[in-house]
Amino acid sequence: MKANWQEMIIRAQKTSDLSIEEITAILGAEDAQGMLIQAADEVRRKCVGEEIHLRGLIEFSNRCRRNCFYCGLRCDNRSLERYYLAEDAVVDLAKEAIRCGYRTIVLQSGEDLYFDADRMASIIRRIKEHEVAVTLSIGEKTREEYEAYRKAGADRYLLRIETTDEKLYTKLHPGQSLSERKRCLRDLKELGYEVGTGSIIGLPDQTDEMIARDIRFFREIGADMIGLGPFIPHGDTPLRDEAGGDFDKSLRVLALVRLLLPYANIPATTAMETLRPQEGRRLALSAGANVVMLNVTSRDRRGLYQLYPGKAKAKDDPMTDRIQIETALRAMGRTVGMTCGNSKAWQENQK
Ligand code: SAH
Ligand code: SF4
Repeated sequence: MKANWQEMIIRAQKTSDLSIEEITAILGAEDAQGMLIQAADEVRRKCVGEEIHLRGLIEFSNRCRRNCFYCGLRCDNRSLERYYLAEDAVVDLAKEAIRCGYRTIVLQSGEDLYFDADRMASIIRRIKEHEVAVTLSIGEKTREEYEAYRKAGADRYLLRIETTDEKLYTKLHPGQSLSERKRCLRDLKELGYEVGTGSIIGLPDQTDEMIARDIRFFREIGADMIGLGPFIPHGDTPLRDEAGGDFDKSLRVLALVRLLLPYANIPATTAMETLRPQEGRRLALSAGANVVMLNVTSRDRRGLYQLYPGKAKAKDDPMTDRIQIETALRAMGRTVGMTCGNSKAWQENQK
């Protein structure tokens, strides 16, 4: 078996391709991890370089009409105090982040209908008066809404598929469908967004083969960015007693994604840092990741954006956090990107 996965990893490094069966085999082979991570790190260096792109994340509303089984923001969670930021407050946070040197602003929220297309378009337009890229992560919308945001200047959109397994997807997302999620991703791609997707690793009943299919799906739709994180059970959700995702498995998934989508932008996600405080982010950046998102939401609100418990938080103000992370990244031999950090995968497709 060992010779087998060694050969597969070497081949994937050259061809950026592996079958579902091969991905499944590597995911299950704990002893493949060292070699896999090294291969992913080499591909990362060769294809997207040493630069790490920093994003300023604004969590502007924790109100959500959806009921995803794993998420603390689900509408049935009545024990969470809800908040939303006024339009001016969102724009002010973005301006502060821009002043601190961030070249991409990520606007994320639950699916909050108060933020309709006009309100979102106005926020986007005001932020786009500055020289930054704007990424949205606000859930499933109609094609018309996606079009309105795009016209207002939005550049990128993050919408994880979460799992491509239809049965599991349906079970975890009451009232939602996998086909509608895919429709959203297709529309976003057609409208010219840089499209980010991704999965949660370690969901109850999720198999390695399902994850392998997720990775093939990212390739098939030509994803420009892929966000991955372990499942972290939240005490106020129906999955409170389930086992959480495994850190090392998540790291292997990340490395495999880098091998199969060599030019994509891959963040070292907060969920990785939460599961392994002080080192999760660094380990992800050494296994293929090239993006870091730092929270620039006002501190009094950060605790309320509880997707999962213990969410690793940026601790200080946006400037101090930024300086600290830049120092840590330089110590790893990496540099901090000074551009908006478009995905190389997306740039290639524009040619
Ligand atoms: N409402 C938007 C954006 C906010 S949720 C959306 O759903 O797209 C952002 C991401 O948090 C989700 O895509 C999901 O993958 C992740 N998430 C939510 N609950 C989680 C949990 N318990 N463990 C790990 N990741 C979780
Ligand atoms: Fe809402 Fe997103 Fe959480 Fe689902 S994952 S409940 S859509 S915030």
